[in-house]
Amino acid sequence: MDLFENVHEVRSWVLRQRTKGEPVHLVPTMGFLHEGHLSLIRRAKAEAGHVVVSIFVNPKQFGPGEDFLVYPRDLPKDLAMANDAGADAVFAPAIPDMYPTGFQTHISVPEIASRLCGAVRPGHFDGVAVIVLKLLNIVQPDRAYFGLKDRQQLQLIARMVRDLNVPVDLVACPTVRESDGLAMSSRNSYLSKEERAQAPVIYKALQLAQKQVKAGERDAKTIEHDARKLIEREPLAKVQYLEVVDPETMERIATVHERAVIVCAVLLGKTRLIDNLLLEA
Ligand code: AMP
Repeated sequence: MDLFENVHEVRSWVLRQRTKGEPVHLVPTMGFLHEGHLSLIRRAKAEAGHVVVSIFVNPKQFGPGEDFLVYPRDLPKDLAMANDAGADAVFAPAIPDMYPTGFQTHISVPEIASRLCGAVRPGHFDGVAVIVLKLLNIVQPDRAYFGLKDRQQLQLIARMVRDLNVPVDLVACPTVRESDGLAMSSRNSYLSKEERAQAPVIYKALQLAQKQVKAGERDAKTIEHDARKLIEREPLAKVQYLEVVDPETMERIATVHERAVIVCAVLLGKTRLIDNLLLEA
């Protein structure tokens, strides 16, 4: 596996694969890899591509006072894990390489970006959009792999790719969970023992919603109310948002018809965790 630390190097590598006629697949990450990331890398490899994993903690998607400085980082361990999962190259640029002096371009997908995570993290999705578009332009992959764990992010990227005719196929991958249901996340490492013990309630609440829909409940307010109540039974858990939304537009809906998604952000102490689950009537 190769490690590239600047744009020029990774571009030359991609060009070499292209001249051999080999497809290139990209898995964008912020590192501190876990099984969720590895599932994306394995899938990208299984779909017969040369796999580039990008590792970049993107300052533009963190707001003031957020966890950019303390976001967990462990490049040597990430390299070993990416290699074991089948990556062919890791692209781990430094900040000035991605945002050189004078950088000023802004990408905005305003409707999707204004809701849910975007409403509580202003500017977050503009930062996501610009870094993802840059990575897609640098690597020019045939396919790019994203986790459904970050469903709003995925819908925003899908919208941007359609709107700007970016020549890439997006592949949505299922959420990988711990055995007690907690969605894997690099931020789980922030949880204290007590917070970690209460965190599985998030998935339990989403599953409750799924059961209610399967049993015939269609009223989104009732579903939201019951899920929120279950989460807030845990003393350290505070719901930041919890909504039943349209799976594509991420707009809140009042009634579950065929497909909806329940999405939430929950604070456990200072740690903010997000999760979502498809509700099928
Ligand atoms: P991150 O490093 O958190 O920015 O995530 C990089 C990619 O991995 C994104 O496409 C995420 O949606 C995906 N991802 C993160 N956690 C999981 C998970 N538990 N299951 C599946 N994909 C995940």
